[in-house]
Amino acid sequence: MTRTAVVAGGAGFVGSHLCERLLTDGWRVVCVDNFVTGSAGNVAHLAGESRFRLIEADVCEGAPPVAGGVDAVLNLASPASPVDYLALPLETLRVGSEGTRHLLDLARAKGARFVLASTSETYGDPLVHPQPESYWGNVNPVGPRSVYDEAKRYAEAITMAYRRSFGVDTGIVRIFNTYGPRMRAHDGRAVPTFIRQALAHQPITVAGDGSQTRSLCYVSDLVDGLVRMTEARLAGPVNLGDQEEVTVLRLAEWIRELTASPSGIVHVPRPVDDPSVRRPDTTRAREELGWAPEFSTERGLIRTIDWFRGRDAADRETLQM
Ligand code: NAD
Repeated sequence: MTRTAVVAGGAGFVGSHLCERLLTDGWRVVCVDNFVTGSAGNVAHLAGESRFRLIEADVCEGAPPVAGGVDAVLNLASPASPVDYLALPLETLRVGSEGTRHLLDLARAKGARFVLASTSETYGDPLVHPQPESYWGNVNPVGPRSVYDEAKRYAEAITMAYRRSFGVDTGIVRIFNTYGPRMRAHDGRAVPTFIRQALAHQPITVAGDGSQTRSLCYVSDLVDGLVRMTEARLAGPVNLGDQEEVTVLRLAEWIRELTASPSGIVHVPRPVDDPSVRRPDTTRAREELGWAPEFSTERGLIRTIDWFRGRDAADRETLQM
């Protein structure tokens, strides 16, 4: 029997890779998106696949209209980059709360497994390093980033409440920084920003002195973790992220080397409440999901740079037409 997955936010960066992977694994996929930060173009190549369907809908308005049986509801719907959620504060709070509730209602009505794509931002600016799932976090509830952090913390809370109150089979993953093809060049996250600047021979803008660290997971590895969580009956939360920790300054230098760019590095002010360190403890993912990332940061960066180069070339051709 072909299983059906509803992927909310499926036309976004991670969601589009997840739709692809589920189709490869034999699922029927219903992608639901309102294109606020994603685009139909991200899944246009899947349009010819008979097991794929795209529904344009805002999950804040109600449960998406999906006829027939559903085996899994995967909630990735939310602005995710700081540039996006700072520009869409109320939409971000609403999709984390109302949107998540509607998708939980859908999972409950269909008897489906529900997986929430939560975030390492639930740990805020962490006082424990690396971060295990048992750490409750250090979030500023009234700072500008709180619209995202607190929306996700609420989404986790309502997910657990549906599990406890209604017996919905739920799972929560906390995703750490993920990168790869189909990130938007101007979404404000470090990897696409640095690659765009390096390829355009523009100064690479490092926030603060660049000593803050991130761990970067390549998108296909992250998607593999999401699929494993979908197939498991685990409640979580489970951290998904890479173990290799890199300073933001080193990342800028690395991208400059890999693109052989003459760009200089300039320092710009650090955003408010920008976390100083970030690295997941992934013991639980390893032991309970059998998951570990396969891509080294260097290999992932090379693939991502190649994709941005290809896109640049395609854009230039379009402009010349
Ligand atoms: P993205 O912005 O590319 O994708 C989010 C998608 O959700 C977009 O296609 C957007 O249009 C859609 N969406 C937003 N609000 C919606 C609504 N009300 N109704 C329907 N669709 C809506 O971001 P991404 O990087 O692909 O992130 C996907 C998910 O993973 C997000 O929930 C994000 O919080 C989580 N996450 C991502 C990362 C990362 O590093 N990429 C890290 C932690 C968590």
